[in-house]
Amino acid sequence: MTQLTPMLRQYYEQKSQYPGCILLFRLGDFYEMFGDDATLASKLLQITLTSRDAGGDTRIPMCGVPHHSAEKYIAQLVRNGYKVALCEQVEDPKAAKGVVRREVVRVVTPGTVTDEEMLSERENNFLVSLSYKAEAPRSRATHLFPHPSYTIGLAVCDLSTGEFMCTEMGPEGAVGSLKNELTRLSPTEVLLDPAFEDEEAQQLLETIHASVAGLVEVQEPRYFYDESARKRLLSHFHTESLEGFGCERLDVAVRCAGALLEYLTETQKRHLDQISRLSTYSVAEHMQIDAATRRNLELVRTLRDGERRGSLIWVLDRTSTSMGGRLLRRWTLQPLVKAAAIQTRLDAVDDLVQNVDLRFGLRSLFDKVYDVERLVARVASQSANARDLIALKASLRVLPEIQAALANQAKAERLSQLADQIDPCADVCATISQAIVDEPPISITEGGIIRRGYSADVDELALAATSGREWISRLEQEERDRTKIRSLKVGYNKVFGYYIEVTRPNLAQVPAEYQRKQTLANAERFITPELKEQEERILGAHDRLVELEYELFVELRRQIGEAAARIQSAARILAELDVYLALADVAVDRGYVKPVVDEDDALEIRDGRHPVVEATLKDEAFVPNDLHLDGETQVIVLTGPNMAGKSTYLRQTALIVLMAQIGSFVPASAARIGVVDRIFTRVGASDDLATGQSTFMVEMNEVANILNHATPKSLVILDEVGRGTSTFDGLSIAWAVTEYLLKEPRVKAKTLFATHYHELTELEELLPGVKNYSVAVHKEGQEILFLRRIVQGGADQSYGIEVARLAGLPAPVLQRARQILEALESSEERRLAQDAAAATIDDTSGEIAPTTLTEASEGSGRRPAQLALFAPPHPLIERLKATDVERLTPLEALNLLAAFVNEARLGGDAS
Ligand code: ADP
Repeated sequence: MTQLTPMLRQYYEQKSQYPGCILLFRLGDFYEMFGDDATLASKLLQITLTSRDAGGDTRIPMCGVPHHSAEKYIAQLVRNGYKVALCEQVEDPKAAKGVVRREVVRVVTPGTVTDEEMLSERENNFLVSLSYKAEAPRSRATHLFPHPSYTIGLAVCDLSTGEFMCTEMGPEGAVGSLKNELTRLSPTEVLLDPAFEDEEAQQLLETIHASVAGLVEVQEPRYFYDESARKRLLSHFHTESLEGFGCERLDVAVRCAGALLEYLTETQKRHLDQISRLSTYSVAEHMQIDAATRRNLELVRTLRDGERRGSLIWVLDRTSTSMGGRLLRRWTLQPLVKAAAIQTRLDAVDDLVQNVDLRFGLRSLFDKVYDVERLVARVASQSANARDLIALKASLRVLPEIQAALANQAKAERLSQLADQIDPCADVCATISQAIVDEPPISITEGGIIRRGYSADVDELALAATSGREWISRLEQEERDRTKIRSLKVGYNKVFGYYIEVTRPNLAQVPAEYQRKQTLANAERFITPELKEQEERILGAHDRLVELEYELFVELRRQIGEAAARIQSAARILAELDVYLALADVAVDRGYVKPVVDEDDALEIRDGRHPVVEATLKDEAFVPNDLHLDGETQVIVLTGPNMAGKSTYLRQTALIVLMAQIGSFVPASAARIGVVDRIFTRVGASDDLATGQSTFMVEMNEVANILNHATPKSLVILDEVGRGTSTFDGLSIAWAVTEYLLKEPRVKAKTLFATHYHELTELEELLPGVKNYSVAVHKEGQEILFLRRIVQGGADQSYGIEVARLAGLPAPVLQRARQILEALESSEERRLAQDAAAATIDDTSGEIAPTTLTEASEGSGRRPAQLALFAPPHPLIERLKATDVERLTPLEALNLLAAFVNEARLGGDAS
C-alpha cells in the first residue's frame, strides 16, 4: 500500500469512525469528499468529479462543495437517504503545527435534521427506534401456531420540536399495531435492535420494511443494552427512576428510548436540552387505523396525487401556527376511543363556537404566535439566531392576554384547565426584550443584536464607533470649508479604509499634510494621520463590539435554553388552543354540528355530508343524507349505478365518525356517534405494483385484514368487494364476506357495503340485521339523473349503459350493448341455473351449512333467491342435452351412464 499523504490519512481515520456516512471534510472554504463518497456524491449532487494526489503515484477521486452553500447539498444527500458526517477544522489553521486537527462535529441523518429547509412546517420529522421481546408460548397448543408472539417496543422523537414518546405493543396484535404505528408516524429513519435479524423475528422485520419508506438501519447491539439504555435516560433527565414518565416497568420501551437518545447524543454532539421529557402512550388509547384506511379516507393526502389539497386535513386545518397544524394532523391520524376524552375536546370547541368574542379575541392574539416548539428546540440546541429569539418573545408575550381571555370568558373545562396551566414565561420575555434589539439581523456574528442599555461594555464600544463615525462625517464639511474644494468627498473602501477624494482639477488646492494613497482616472485619494486614527478607533471598536455581542448573545441563548421545558409546556398549550380554534372556525364556517358521542352501539347521522366533496363542489349543492346503524341494522347493502354517490356516502360516514372522535364538529344537522374502536375500509381497486400484488390480491388482503381484526365496535366500509375476479367468484366472495361480518360473533361489525352486485340485496330477506339502501336515480327514456339521495330498498338495475353514455361512449357501442343486455336478460341459461347450489349460513347454529338457496328460502318462507340465476350451467347438463339417446347402443348407453355417474361423483368433467 502506498504511503498516504498526512491529510488523507487524517481523512481515512475519521471516515473509519463513521461507517455508513458520507464524510464531508473541511478544507479551507470547501467541504471535500474523497474516494467512493466522491464518486457517489458527484452523481447525486451533479458536481464535477476531480482527483487528488493520494501519495505515491496514486490519485483518488475527489469532489467538493463550498461551505457557505453546503446546507443545500447536505439536504440533498439526506433526502436521498444518506447520513452525512461533518468533519470540521477544530483548531486555528494559523496556530496548527502540521495538519490542522479535524473532528466530526455532527452527523446529519434523515431522522435528525433540524434545519428549516429540510423540514416541512406542518409535519413532524420522526426518528423511531424499535426493539422486541419474544414471548414464551402460553400453552402447549402454541405449536399449532407457528408464529411466535412478541412484545414490541417503540420510541419516537422529533428532534426539531423536542417531542419524545415511547410505547409497548402486544403480545396480542403486536404485528398489526406495529404496522399501524409505523405507517401513522411515517418516520424518516428507523433504528433497529440487531435482534430483529434473528430468525424468530423475520415476520417483524418484513413488516418494518414494508411499512417504512425512510432509512431503516440495524444498529450496534450496545445501543440496546437494557442497563445502559436506562442509565442514559436517567442521566439525561436527571431522575432516579422512570416512574414519572410512566414507563418504569416497560422494559422494551425503555430500551428503545435509551437507544434513541444515545444515537442522538452520538450524532448531534450538541445539547439535547430540547428533549425535556419522555411521555408514554398506549395504542389502546387511540382508534387503530391501518395504512389502507388512512390512505383510502384521504386523511392527510389524496389517493390520486398525494396532495394535501383535497384531503380531510385540508378542510380542517385552519390553525394559525405550524405547531397547531402538526398537532391537528396528529389528532387526525390518531382519533380517541374514550367518549369522555372526546367529550372534553368537543366541549372546548363548542365553547369557542358559542362564544364569538372569545374566538375572535383569541384568533387575533394568535396572529402574533410563531412556531414556538421549533423555536425553543433551536434555542435549546443552541442553533437559534437573534430573530428566533424575537419571534419567541413575540409569541410568549401574548400568553398573559390569552390566559386572561380564557380565565374571564371560557366555560369549557379544558379551556379553563389550559388557562390555569399557562406559565406566561414573563422572565424569558423580559430578558429577550432587554437584551435584543427589535429587528436584529439574521447573522449572529456581525453585531447589531444587543440593545443599548443591556451591557455597559457594549454601549461604550458602540459609542466609540459612533463618535468616530460622527467625526468622519463632520470631516467632509470641515475640509470642504477649509480647502475651498467644493467637490471634496470622504469615502470608505475595504482595501484602503477611509480616504479623502479630490477631483483632478482641484489637486492644486490640496493641503500639504494630505498624504496620497491612490490615483484614479479623474481623482486622487488621500489620507491624513487624524483620519487613520479615527479609522482605527472605529474599526477596533467595531471588531470588539461584534465579538462581545456574539458572546453575550450565546450566553443569553444558553440561559433561555434552561427554560426550555417551561416554554415547551406553554407551546403545547398554545398548539392545543390553536387546534380548538381551528376546529371551531371550520365548524362555524361550514355549518358543522356538535355530535353526541357515547359508548353505545348506534351510529345515527342526520343530513350527513362529505366534508371534502362539499368543500370542492362548485355549482351544485351537496345533497345531505341520513344514516342509521345499530343492533337492528348492522349491515347496509348500498346499491345504485356508478357515479350515483355510493362511495361518497360511505366515506362521509367514516369521516364523520372519525371527525367526531378527534373532537371535531361534524358535517350533519345532528349526529349520535357510539365510539368505534377501528375503522376499516376496502375501497377502490389499485394494483400494488411495488410489492408485485395484483388488484385482486390487494383487495383480498384488505378483506382478510378486516375479517381478522374487526370487532363489534368497528366500522367497516366496503366499497365493492370481488370486482377483480369473475362475476361468480366475486359475487360469492362478497356474499360470504357479508354473512361473516354479520354472523361471526367475534366480528359483528357495523358495515356499509356498496356493491354493483344487486343480487346481494337478497341478503336483506335472508339475514336479519341487513338493510338495503340505494341511491335514487330518475330515469327518463335513456337519460338518467342522479338524485344523490339515499333511499331504503335495493336498486332495481345497474344503469351501467346509461352511465357509459354519460361518459361519452360512441352511440353504436351503446346501442349494441343494449341489444346484448336484452339478449342476456332473456337468456334461457338463467332459468337453467336456478337449480345450482349456493350456500348460506344456518341461522341457528352460525355454522356454514351446505343448503341450497331454494331450501333456505322455502324454510323461511321467503321468495327464492336470485343468486341462482347467475350460477353457470353445469357441464353435465350440457352434455346430457347434447346426447342423442336413439343412436346409442345399449353398451354405449351403459358406459355413458357410468361415465356420467362418475363425473357427478367427482364433481368434474369425466370426458
Ligand atoms: P359511486 O361510488 O356511486 O360511483 P361517487 O360517490 O364516486 O359515486 O360519486 C360520484 C360524484 O358525485 C362525486 O365525485 C361527487 O362529485 C358527486 N356526489 C356524490 N354524492 C353527492 C352528494 N350527496 N351531493 C352532491 N354531489 C355528490
